[in-house]
Amino acid sequence: MALKLYNTLSRKKEVFKPIKKGEVGVYTCGPTVYWYQHIGNLRSYIFSDVLTRVLKYDKYKVKQVVNVTDVGHLTSDADDGEDKLEKAAAKEHKTAKEISHFYFDIFKEDFVKLNIEMPSVWSWATKHIGEQIELIKKLEKKGFTYETSDGIYFDTSKFGDYGKLSRKKIDGLEAGKRITLKEKRSITDFALWKFSKDGENRQQEWASPWGKGYPGWHIECSAMSMKYLGATIDIHTGGEDHIPIHHENEIAQSEAATGKKFVNYWMHGAFLQLGGKKMAKSSGKILTISELEEKGFSPLDYRYFTFSAHYRKPLSWSLGGLETARDSLKRLKRIISGLNKEKGTNKKYLGRFEEKINDDLNMPGALAVLWELVRDKNAKNKYGTIEKMDEVFGLNLFEKIEIKVPAEIKKLAEERQKAREEKNWAKSDELRDEISKKGWKVIDGKERFQLGEI
Ligand code: AMP
Ligand code: ZN
Repeated sequence: MALKLYNTLSRKKEVFKPIKKGEVGVYTCGPTVYWYQHIGNLRSYIFSDVLTRVLKYDKYKVKQVVNVTDVGHLTSDADDGEDKLEKAAAKEHKTAKEISHFYFDIFKEDFVKLNIEMPSVWSWATKHIGEQIELIKKLEKKGFTYETSDGIYFDTSKFGDYGKLSRKKIDGLEAGKRITLKEKRSITDFALWKFSKDGENRQQEWASPWGKGYPGWHIECSAMSMKYLGATIDIHTGGEDHIPIHHENEIAQSEAATGKKFVNYWMHGAFLQLGGKKMAKSSGKILTISELEEKGFSPLDYRYFTFSAHYRKPLSWSLGGLETARDSLKRLKRIISGLNKEKGTNKKYLGRFEEKINDDLNMPGALAVLWELVRDKNAKNKYGTIEKMDEVFGLNLFEKIEIKVPAEIKKLAEERQKAREEKNWAKSDELRDEISKKGWKVIDGKERFQLGEI
């Protein structure tokens, strides 16, 4: 079955054709590790995880590179403001390296909790300074750069195709240029290398042909994807906020340097929204996976929740929505735990599931097929079919459900046991009713009792 993917570049679903038969290179724009990644960020990585899982399901050998931004990402997209890493280090009285490793480790733990498969390469910006300098030198040689008092800039007017991904109107942007232009020649020009300022006391800076400084944020992705995946890559993913600036700039740098097409398929995930707006660190209203766990949810409840919307559609965050996802996942696992272990697969249902996942990763559709299958009393080989489906869902559907009995229920059941031992049947019945009103049932054994959910 042909895999169709929506390509932001063409604004169309296209049949996926890899550069090399049977192999796929995927570059995913990763985190800036100066703070916790919130559940919005993680929606983006669940999307790229589903993509790589579908590619593997379709028997492709996947090489995925995810960058880790530990320098150069400024608080403003207009090439000024502070370096996010330096700012966090100063605030937390730590070294930039301590900050980046601390938040990266938590990010990686979230990957494990969410069943997001690890990429083939985690590629750190500070470990590729040499490659970034080489790329800037190449651009300089080809005449795509100019120098200002604060850095080396990419001259977007020299790159004819600038704006092709976002289809933004550069003329319109030029109208507002007095506000942020400063020494830039055009509002869309961007920093490739920034000079360390006198008295800035940066922790992270390097010597370069242009003076001491650090790379701009965008250049790392071009340099590292070229290093690990070649001049032209199959698929590049990221959040939709990257389309107009970061990815546009990645294209300009890469194609200007190599003269080749940078990416064949651009894929972007839509936002997790809070109150109609993107969940963002800057708003202060964010949630992390650990916070969801503290509220009694499993990280996989959140993974299931994200499958309620297609990856290109915004998803509204709500606790009620997550509760519904948790209940559905629990119900699914309970039904699955009672299935006969038939190892064969059901062609009809698996075929319909494959149609959904290969249709631009339609996970809500795939989930609907799974539910139809578990509800179909006549369907054969449910167990083996669901096992296969879970290669893509990654929901641990065969995991035993752990039933956590609240302390209050345990106490009532103990009291009831005592009443029974004292042959106080009226009290024992009364307590049974109270327990059942709270959604639990007591199953009496020979000596002790067991508790179960109703
Ligand atoms: P950052 O660490 O801020 O560079 O973001 C990491 C990734 O998360 C990027 O691909 C962003 O596009 C993505 N992202 C940020 N906010 C959201 C959100 N609310 N929903 C989905 N993805 C997001
Ligand atoms: Zn990037």
